Amino acid sequence: MRLASFDCGRIGCVEGENIVELIGIGENSEFAHSPMRTLIQKGNWSSLVGSSRGPSVPLAEVVLDPPVPDPSKIFAAPVNYVDHQKEMEQAFQVSGLGLFLKAPSSLVGSGGTLQLPYHDRRFDQEGEFAVIIGKMARNVSVDRALDFVFGYSTLLDITMRGGEDRSTRKSFETFTPMGPWIVTADEFGDPADVDLKCWVNGELRQHANTKDLIWGVAELIAYASSVTTLLPGDVITTGTPAGVGSIFDGDIVEAECSGIGGRLNVKVSAAGATASVTTGGNSGSALVGGSKEKGGNS
Ligand code: MN
Repeated sequence: MRLASFDCGRIGCVEGENIVELIGIGENSEFAHSPMRTLIQKGNWSSLVGSSRGPSVPLAEVVLDPPVPDPSKIFAAPVNYVDHQKEMEQAFQVSGLGLFLKAPSSLVGSGGTLQLPYHDRRFDQEGEFAVIIGKMARNVSVDRALDFVFGYSTLLDITMRGGEDRSTRKSFETFTPMGPWIVTADEFGDPADVDLKCWVNGELRQHANTKDLIWGVAELIAYASSVTTLLPGDVITTGTPAGVGSIFDGDIVEAECSGIGGRLNVKVSAAGATASVTTGGNSGSALVGGSKEKGGNS
């Protein structure tokens, strides 16, 4: 099943070129979770979806939101493909570095605008395969980890290069495009054999398969759940392969994972960009035009 959030607070099933709205899933309260997070949390999502079908509208007529607009956290893997470790000249990979957190408020839906905050810093695209957690998970084993998956989606981990902390460089507003929707785990197939592609202005920059992940989906869930409790709707993004590069005002960034059945896309804007507030420390690649070959943090 393909599940999407749209038009600020509605959810539905994507069926062909249409979206069938699901009615009455989330409470209409300022303090409630989004309908998607509520649906995931309720557990019996399959029967709920069956009993909540409303009107069908063309996908082309809706504005997509991030599939889960309000996860309690987004965990991300820093260096989880060997080819990306080489291109960034990183001494350590995920097994040395662990995971980092991105602010959930950095999410934006497919078709949205990616807003660059500064005109004097380098920003890169990172196409990634993302996992959405289905139920509370704490200290789960690698063997059982996939039982805790709700579904999968495509994500862009947009990054400012430089020496600031990853949680800052990757948490600017709109720096986590996600979508276009979730495919539930029961229909998705093997997360260890997913073809990942990422384009900028139609040019293919990244092409990899999740079989080359250093820590696969199960290892990432097991590790994250050893750090803290994972909640329904939480996102773990698995890391990016080689091919990251600069993005600029007006660029179109697209990413696609096989099995999702749709392409995530955003338009880059530098409207209103200012000078960077921070210096980027001593990283040689922090400035616009900076080369990834000169090092800097992934
Ligand atoms: Mn990343």
